[in-house]
Amino acid sequence: MIQTILSQAVEAARPAAELGQTATYIPELGKMDKHHLGACVFTREGERCCAGDTDVRFSIQSISKVISLAAALELCGYDTVFERVGMEPSGEAFNAMGKLEAVGSTPSNPMINAGAIAVDSYLEPKISFEEMLSFTRKLCMDPQIVLDEKVYHSEMSHISRNRAIAYLLENTGVIRSDVERTLDFYVRMCSLSITAESLAGLGLVLAGDGVHPATGERLLSPDTVRVVKTIMLTCGMYDGSGTFAVQVGIPSKSGVGGGILSVVDGRMGIGIFGPALDGKGNSVAGIQVLRTLSRELHLHIFDPSEHR
Ligand code: GLN
Repeated sequence: MIQTILSQAVEAARPAAELGQTATYIPELGKMDKHHLGACVFTREGERCCAGDTDVRFSIQSISKVISLAAALELCGYDTVFERVGMEPSGEAFNAMGKLEAVGSTPSNPMINAGAIAVDSYLEPKISFEEMLSFTRKLCMDPQIVLDEKVYHSEMSHISRNRAIAYLLENTGVIRSDVERTLDFYVRMCSLSITAESLAGLGLVLAGDGVHPATGERLLSPDTVRVVKTIMLTCGMYDGSGTFAVQVGIPSKSGVGGGILSVVDGRMGIGIFGPALDGKGNSVAGIQVLRTLSRELHLHIFDPSEHR
């Protein structure tokens, strides 16, 4: 039943790609075919449903902020992470920097660039990129994840805005370690090449409170996963998070590569790929697929149906 609804949802959402654009501010992302669309659902019962372009590799971009936040909570602790990064929706674009200038101001949350760069500055001295890569492979249940060198170099040569954000954070005392090393770590994490299936795998681990469904290995503590899912719900779709919470109601995180990671708590992980983005940087067709799935499968966190 899930497979039929998923296939229909993907086909119905395809025309929505015309309403969006690929992210041209990172030139390599601008080259993607905006008509790609794929969606995967992995359930706790072991069902795996895929429809559309689910094995096409694309860069994880901001969805890596979920992985970095989870790793930072495990390695640095809750108090360190949230001492100088907030947990409030920003209501601003993902790359906004306006509010950061004021003395004593801190990034609104770890899902926007400023917050994620700060979190990476706490994480980077404690773990190498290679270790983060193998942790990401485990979390996504995808051993094929690699660094997309082209995307990495493309973003590194168009890094001015994030560099400005990072130095502003250093100036206000939010970042206290090496800024250039932090930026390199941040961009490498954003350049990991994944598929919609990798995102469904990650979603499934989060839906299961951090336990790998096949091996039973605990990859993240329940406390970490609770914090991460809550912040995904309130901040994961940037300044579109409120509307998305009403219309879809599933903790999710988007990236400008066109991915969306969604977690239906205790039930399933969903991975989406659709590189045509709306004005807020979220996959237009991807959101449409999720609206359909939420309605048809009763996935909204406040769905009153007895099917839950
Ligand atoms: N690497 C991108 C950036 O820093 C990530 C942004 C995103 O996916 N929203 O601009």
